[in-house]
Amino acid sequence: MTDALEVDGLSVRYGGVTAARDVSFTIQPGQSLGIIGANGAGKTSTLKALMGLVPRTVRSVRFGDQDLTRVPGRDMVRHGIGYVPEGRHVFPGLPVEKNLLLGAYTRRWKGATLDTLDEVYELFPILREMRGRLAGALSGGQQQMLAIGRALMSAPRLMLLDEPSMGLSPKLVSDIVGVLKKLNERGLSMLLVEQNAQLTFEVTTECLVMENGAVAMTGTSESLRQNPQVRKIYLGL
Ligand code: ATP
Repeated sequence: MTDALEVDGLSVRYGGVTAARDVSFTIQPGQSLGIIGANGAGKTSTLKALMGLVPRTVRSVRFGDQDLTRVPGRDMVRHGIGYVPEGRHVFPGLPVEKNLLLGAYTRRWKGATLDTLDEVYELFPILREMRGRLAGALSGGQQQMLAIGRALMSAPRLMLLDEPSMGLSPKLVSDIVGVLKKLNERGLSMLLVEQNAQLTFEVTTECLVMENGAVAMTGTSESLRQNPQVRKIYLGL
């Protein structure tokens, strides 16, 4: 069993721009929560703020019985939170396997790390095939797999994913959906930020809809999928 993440009153301002305003949510153990919204709605800022990567104000962040409100971003991974940033940010000049092993930098036991490496290769066989290639030589989809694999290498209990579908072909998007569902079924909690509402509803049980930096709607993914406003604005139906 893993822990619940409780975020209360998260706000981000860049100079005069409020990118996220008083955002609160809970991710239950093993749950997959989505945040959807248009370009610029504040989704990425919310995730980055949660990871302590941009200046923020927040009333509290709790993960199980740990108070993470004042934990700096670089330490979040030590508390069991993995992060797959928008745009992947793999290390292009390093081989695939080295990128993966760098994801395990907080772990002390080599044996356990190598077991996780095997699990990642099982999820993404193409990464095993390409283990010796430079990450920069991979396709966009393969780099996305590498970014997810690298985050898994820290053995997180909660994984934050920022737009994993961005720029990928429909086939690759469906491969990524399959992997995310499998990870969630294995008990990994997830926070998935996406412009692709269709994908998000498939992978998550509940979602927030962000508009202009604030939470405009919340509900089960199923109820939002059927909501006429959501269908029109986010599903283009
Ligand atoms: P996208 O889907 O494009 O990533 P988003 O919903 O994630 O969009 P954010 O990237 O969080 O939205 O942006 C929210 C608002 O904050 C936007 O108005 C954006 O222009 C602004 N913003 C984001 N980053 C910065 C920054 N570093 N400096 C100033 N303004 C920023």
